[in-house]
Amino acid sequence: RIAYVNGSYVAHAEAGVHVEDRGYQFGDGVYEVCEVRGGHMVDERRHMARLVRSLGELRIRLPMSLAALGVVLRQTIARNRVRDGLVYLQVTRGVARRDHYFPDAATPPSLVVTARSVDPAKGEAVAGQGIAVITVPDNRWERVDIKTIGLLPNVLAKEAAKQAGAREAWFVDASGHVTEGGSTNAWIVTPEGRLITRPAESGILRGITRTVMMEVAEKLQLRVEERPFTVAEALGAREAFVTSATNFATPVVRIDGQTIGDGRPGPVVRALRENFHQVAEIAR
Ligand code: PMP
Repeated sequence: RIAYVNGSYVAHAEAGVHVEDRGYQFGDGVYEVCEVRGGHMVDERRHMARLVRSLGELRIRLPMSLAALGVVLRQTIARNRVRDGLVYLQVTRGVARRDHYFPDAATPPSLVVTARSVDPAKGEAVAGQGIAVITVPDNRWERVDIKTIGLLPNVLAKEAAKQAGAREAWFVDASGHVTEGGSTNAWIVTPEGRLITRPAESGILRGITRTVMMEVAEKLQLRVEERPFTVAEALGAREAFVTSATNFATPVVRIDGQTIGDGRPGPVVRALRENFHQVAEIAR
């Protein structure tokens, strides 16, 4: 495997950044994960737009033009011979002597890109079974709209899920409403068949898959309501699911040990999965 690190393509096993990288020292950086399908990135344009926004919010520069970054992403995918899988990119505020203040404006930001293959059959198998989720208090900061590499609450929540025999954790805000998953956006289907997901304006990351799924729902003439929902409403839902670039839509069949619907993946999430890649943009 090959990784791109600050201007060079290097053996993945030897790829590293400096110990004084701000990403390593402070979690001072942002990232993106993009699905690769048939050797091409899915929704690249939207992922790049979100990257630019995250960087802007943190006043970190992109160390190269978006066009050049597109070349690096494609090179990394090609050099790893990824047909189906993921490409990951991370930009940090660069290497500087440890000090909380931003380093000198001339400090070049660090850029790392990796890519790996993922067997699509694995995602299909998980989707065929459905997953269990647990709920945990949302103890994150207020800027979860920024895709920062500072993911400690997410790590702890997902590990707690794993310990409980579940795959994902749903964060719940102080008013009892679900915000999102540790690495996914959360959705339910009401008994009337309406799709509910939390508005992207508060408490969540605006998932690219979430945005595209809205278009898929429209195409399927499903009604979508963007509003917060409680854990109680989710427990009474007909279906529940999560979305992310790593497995577009994954059915949720258990929440905190309680069965959702008939305990099997439902028709709405199945239809959304089947239609996703007709709507998502493939960037050649
Ligand atoms: N929320 C969080 C906290 C995430 O980490 C992710 C995955 N990066 C998502 C939502 C889903 O976003 P996307 O659909 O862009 O992968």
